Amino acid sequence: KYLQIAIDGPAGAGKSTIAQKLAKRLNITYIDTGSMYRALTYKVIKENINIHNKEQIINITNNVDMTISQDNIFIDGEDVTRNIRSQEVTKSVSYIAQIPEVRECLVRLQQKFATNNSVVMDGRDIGTHVLPNAAIKIFLTASIDERAHRRYNELIQKGEAVVYEDIKESIKARDKLDTERQHAPLKKAKDAIILDTTGLDVDIVVEKIIYIISQ
Ligand code: C5P
Repeated sequence: KYLQIAIDGPAGAGKSTIAQKLAKRLNITYIDTGSMYRALTYKVIKENINIHNKEQIINITNNVDMTISQDNIFIDGEDVTRNIRSQEVTKSVSYIAQIPEVRECLVRLQQKFATNNSVVMDGRDIGTHVLPNAAIKIFLTASIDERAHRRYNELIQKGEAVVYEDIKESIKARDKLDTERQHAPLKKAKDAIILDTTGLDVDIVVEKIIYIISQ
């Protein structure tokens, strides 16, 4: 009854920009699952919990009050939409996302959204675990240099002082953690369509996906 579109891929492949535009075009809800892992990471850092302290992180996860809307994410009533994009959160998030209990809890929330709404959901495990029956599965990729350049430009535009090589290394480190973790690693679903966005304009990619949906 509801349309489910799963968009997965590594950091900087263009998932969120593309998923957001696609959802707008289709007039359905966009869910950024990365923002949920980030919000939890923000809380863990704020509470001074060591990012390797699984027990305490699981405890926080099970008691967290997280609400997510189209444009904002709140944790315990605090709007953390901006804070979750900090480099500190970015650096730590993949450690927290490795914990199976954390994933189970957030995946349940994600699945709940998709049972009451048509959604475009982006993440790492959407086509493989969260929405295995999604009607459309897209796996977005791009070269490491293209992905690093996109992140770099984003941060420069925000006025942050960043070094290109550092950004590239941090993306590589995150990809490694995300693809090598035990539980629901970043992986193309068997029935996903690969779209390489290297050198492609966002709008072109959106058009390609709309075409795939219309088939
Ligand atoms: O998409 P974004 O880069 O904001 O995601 C941040 C991190 O959250 C990823 O690097 C990954 O470790 C984790 N994540 C995940 N599963 C998802 C979405 C994000 O493990 N579905």
